Amino acid sequence: MKFVTYNYNGTEYVGVLTNDETSVIPASEFGLKAGSMLELIKELDGSYPAIPTQAKSIALSDVKLEAPIPEPRQDVICLGLNYRDHVEEATRADAVFDIQRGDAVYFSKRLQRAVAPGGEIDGHFDICDSLDYEVELGVIIGRDAKNVKAADAGKYIFGYTIINDVSARNLQTCHKQWYFGKSLDDFTPMGPCILSADEVGAMPELDIRCYVNGEKRQDSNTRMMIFDIPYIIEELSAGMTLKAGTVIATGTPSGVALGMPPEVQKYLESGDVVRCEIDGIGVLENTIA
Ligand code: MG
Repeated sequence: MKFVTYNYNGTEYVGVLTNDETSVIPASEFGLKAGSMLELIKELDGSYPAIPTQAKSIALSDVKLEAPIPEPRQDVICLGLNYRDHVEEATRADAVFDIQRGDAVYFSKRLQRAVAPGGEIDGHFDICDSLDYEVELGVIIGRDAKNVKAADAGKYIFGYTIINDVSARNLQTCHKQWYFGKSLDDFTPMGPCILSADEVGAMPELDIRCYVNGEKRQDSNTRMMIFDIPYIIEELSAGMTLKAGTVIATGTPSGVALGMPPEVQKYLESGDVVRCEIDGIGVLENTIA
């Protein structure tokens, strides 16, 4: 089941894509009251709705998809250096990434509003000289999670989306903490949908890719994460409540511009098209303004 947030005639709604993905069924057709994805997640409380056979739907061509959670309640929780090949390229590129492995790296990404599929990303070229892409699997928490064991983590996952963890490398590295360089306006494109967790479980093995102007830059599988999703949920929820609707970006594989040899680092420029793909979820494509 694929949940979407969409704009129809100037108003935002939530719904589910039809199986052929040509239309969206409004949540109201299932008898749900939710007007936003955060309300929907709360209302469902760990369950998924049954789609009525006679449900009315709206053609996708008549709506505009938004990020599935356009304005998360809190910052996005991010994993840094969570694919082994990316650790190697990042460490090669800059000593700031040269850390002893053994514990997960967590940081936070502030956002005002997640950029929609097809939307433009402000490259902030007045303060950023090294704009980079990072395709990532995003986890959406479905029920308030506190002291959850890894074996039970699946019961707390609502679903999965695609996140581009857009990064200003110069700001990320010069301020020591990554927060500023990861948190500029527009640096969190998200979408196109949330794939329900019942389709792929708590340890999804999905091909993950990123293209820039049609050139493949990243190509991996989510099973290559160093710290898997149940581990992350157990560790974090032991100390902080992960409220329903929390978004966790689980790290990126190798192939980012930062990881290329300095003389050929292909950072993003105005007009570039970044296409993030995760099999089973879909495509998140955005243009640099
Ligand atoms: Mg990242």
